[in-house]
Amino acid sequence: MDELLEMYEELGISPGVYHYGEAALRKLEERFRAIDQVAEYNQAKVLHAMQRNRVSAACFAATTGYGYDDVGRDNLERVYAGVFHTEAALVRPQITCGTHALTVALSANLLPGDELLSPVGRPYDTLEEVIGIRESPCSLKEYGVSYRQVDLLPDGSFDYEGIRKAIGEKTKLVTIQRSKGYATRPTFSVKQIGELIAFVKSVKPGIICMVDNCYGEFVETLEPSDVGADMVVGSLIKNPGGGLAPIGGYICGTKACVSRCAYRLSAPGLGQEVGANLGLMPALYQGLFLAPTVVAGAEKGAIFAANLYEPLGFPCVPNATESRHDIIQAVTLGSEEAMLAFCRGIQAAAPVDSFATPMPWDMPGYDSQVIMAAGAFVQGSSIELSADGPIRPPYAVYFQGGLTWCHAKLGILMSLQKLCDAGIVHL
Ligand SMILES: *Cc1c(COP(=O)(O)O)cnc(C)c1O
Repeated sequence: MDELLEMYEELGISPGVYHYGEAALRKLEERFRAIDQVAEYNQAKVLHAMQRNRVSAACFAATTGYGYDDVGRDNLERVYAGVFHTEAALVRPQITCGTHALTVALSANLLPGDELLSPVGRPYDTLEEVIGIRESPCSLKEYGVSYRQVDLLPDGSFDYEGIRKAIGEKTKLVTIQRSKGYATRPTFSVKQIGELIAFVKSVKPGIICMVDNCYGEFVETLEPSDVGADMVVGSLIKNPGGGLAPIGGYICGTKACVSRCAYRLSAPGLGQEVGANLGLMPALYQGLFLAPTVVAGAEKGAIFAANLYEPLGFPCVPNATESRHDIIQAVTLGSEEAMLAFCRGIQAAAPVDSFATPMPWDMPGYDSQVIMAAGAFVQGSSIELSADGPIRPPYAVYFQGGLTWCHAKLGILMSLQKLCDAGIVHL
């Protein structure tokens, strides 16, 4: 299509890069069809939950102050519970981010003397301070909650013997991170998570299993709550917000766990009854409605990136052909220069701040400089096209998001263009 080629050229994509991309795409038709099928199923699942709960215009009204009798908020929580097949849900703009949602879920369900166990190795960076692995005021450790961790085996599988030994009298809650986050281990499938939960509960039936579901929502037809998780937790500025939610987090799970979360989030005695929606209901409902197809687009972008970069000699996790359980793509670029060029491309393709040049900076909590590229409508939203990574060997960027497949494609082509322009890649 000459017209399209011309438009790409106007945006700065050379014919060479464009045709290289098209050749990679031709091999992906079958995989994209499978992704569309998952999206179709999940779209129906979300729709079904909205219809069964009789979503109506009354649900979109703004409330202020205490937010008593907030019909829209209460119904959105029933819709989330319907989607995740749980007894209850807490979905609030007052939950500021994923880390906050996880903090609420953990601190509500762990008491002094209890032990928290991670059977999947080190948790996400920001949780280290929440747990007290790195000292911080108000950490769980400060409140007398101890922590134990069982690392994955060298091949990335669960160390069942180690986990059995680690579960003791004090073990109250097990936290399972679905996505690799910024680690190099594989992301777990829902099936694997189900097996782990079944094992943990066979060792100690009463144990609470919580899954950090960040970046995993709607990538499969099942969610961890379908395979035994007592709580699934995530951020609305990632997958389930569909790019429209400007803030928020969710906790879906058993009534017992979720009601404690509500008391922790607001106050004992108040629980789920307070918390005005501040006019955000249209965005939260509509974002959830769009989420299955937005996630599908982001996943296609991740697969496209792996299939563009791997043949050029850049190792990719997941690799170009393996199955996926989240929307994150790691590409090892091998040098600082290449990382900068990649991120310049993602930034240049953005709808917002496309004129900015991402620079490495000293981010709190990291031992090396970090570079981030994002031109998002919602600050820090990583369901929108974004890339980041620490400037240190092996010089890997983590790429994710894209509100539409077309935009994800453009961003990846632009990253490759910048690598070509810098003389790092020769097509
Ligand atoms: C993003 C993320 C978090 C934390 O979410 P924030 O919204 O950045 O606080 C926690 N766990 C995983 C696996 C994540 O990807």
